[in-house]
Amino acid sequence: MFYVTAHEAAHQWWAHQVIGANVQGATMLSESLAQYSALMVMEKEYGPRQMRRFLKYELDRYLMSRATERVEEQPLALNENQQYIHYNKGSVVFYALRDAIGEQQLNAVLAEFVRQWGFKGPPYPTTRDFLDLLYARTAPEHHPFIRDLFERIVFWDHRVTSSEVRKREDGKYVVTLKLHAEKLSTDGKGKET
Ligand SMILES: [Zn+2]
Repeated sequence: MFYVTAHEAAHQWWAHQVIGANVQGATMLSESLAQYSALMVMEKEYGPRQMRRFLKYELDRYLMSRATERVEEQPLALNENQQYIHYNKGSVVFYALRDAIGEQQLNAVLAEFVRQWGFKGPPYPTTRDFLDLLYARTAPEHHPFIRDLFERIVFWDHRVTSSEVRKREDGKYVVTLKLHAEKLSTDGKGKET
C-alpha cells in the first residue's frame, strides 16, 4: 500500500509535470520514473536491507514476462507501453543507475529534466532528451553501462561457483573463489550473444 501510494504521488511529477511525446519510450518517462521515485521513498521508510526483496520481485516479474512477449522485446528507452519493461525492468534499471552514479547525481539530473520540460506544451520530450541529459551530466566511464541499461537488452550473470579457505600459520586466511561472470545481450526475439 505504501509503495503504490508513493508511485501514484510520484505521478505529480512524472506525467503531470513532465509528459513524454507519444512515441517509443514515452512510458519510461512516466512509469519508470514513478517507480524510481517510489523506490527511494520506500528505501527511506523501510531501509536499504528491505529493498532486495522488492527488487528481486521486480526482476523475477520482468524475466517471467519477457518469456511470453508476443511481438518483440524493446530496450527500456524504446519500450512500447510494455508493462513488464516500464514497471519491472524500469525499477531495476533506475536502482542500478542510482548505485552506479549516486542518488545525489541522479536527483540533480531528474531535477534539471523537470526544470527543462515541466508544464510545457508540445513538442514533448522523448527518452532521447532524457538520455542526452544523463550522458551530459555523468562521467564517460558510466556511459557504456548506461547504454546497456537503457538502449540495449543486457543481462549480467555473476555468481560464486566454488570457494576454498586455507588457514595460514600466522592465523590469517587465504580465500580462493571461482567466479562465473557473464554478460550477454539479446535482440528483441531473445537471440543471445
Ligand atoms: Zn503509474
